Amino acid sequence: MMSQSLKGWIIDLDGTVYRGKQVIDGAAETIAYLKLIGMKLVFLSNRGNISRKMCHDKLLDMGLDLSEEEILLSSTVTARYLQKREPGCSVWVLGDKGLADELQVAGLALARTPEKADWLVITLHETVTYRDLNQAFRAVRHGAKIIATNADKTFPGDDGDCIDVAGMIGAIVSSTGQEVEIVIGKPSAIMAEAALDVLGLPPEECVMVGDSLESDIALGRNAGIRTALVLSGSTEREQLEAFDFSIDYVWDSLADARMLF
Ligand SMILES: [Mg+2]
Repeated sequence: MMSQSLKGWIIDLDGTVYRGKQVIDGAAETIAYLKLIGMKLVFLSNRGNISRKMCHDKLLDMGLDLSEEEILLSSTVTARYLQKREPGCSVWVLGDKGLADELQVAGLALARTPEKADWLVITLHETVTYRDLNQAFRAVRHGAKIIATNADKTFPGDDGDCIDVAGMIGAIVSSTGQEVEIVIGKPSAIMAEAALDVLGLPPEECVMVGDSLESDIALGRNAGIRTALVLSGSTEREQLEAFDFSIDYVWDSLADARMLF
């Protein structure tokens, strides 16, 4: 049985573990069960505008006690990527404060002025102003390269879809004519490698569980990790007919993961 070689679980958060401020039915119990039977877990999210600490606290408020080490956000992976590949670089942030926190935790220096930055890091900025956009524009005009935590177009808000990082990227790319050099978030190989690294396992011993065909399932497909789609978030069962890749498991929610054992 396939589950015999399964040791590591890469689990999306939004739409898979929680929706809004609510834990999805059965998710907490399933996470506890997977840990009980010795599975290694990492939670992988494209959210780039919060730090791991903020995410950890949010999960704790919902009654989920995960360790910070088990959480990997696109902000975390962006910070690690720059720290490793561009040590000593200085960064300018277009985005919410959580990203700057995560960059500083990784030991990166924030540029004093936009003109001094080597990299402009873009994520969601929920209170963006003209001044913020203009400073980011100036950073790129003065030679900063562009890296984005993710490039999601929308995220589900309480009252409908909301503009996501793609909108922030669009403002800078179209005004400067400079393209984004690197997008870190799922489905990139950079995110897959970061998750496998935390688990310490090869891809064939892991499963990627998530609600998004474009980010979660595509990441699994590209990285040779088996895939489980949950229908508790952004994907409806009807969309699967037009999808050309076979998904290993399709579950109503994470609670169905227990059917494997
Ligand atoms: Mg999701």
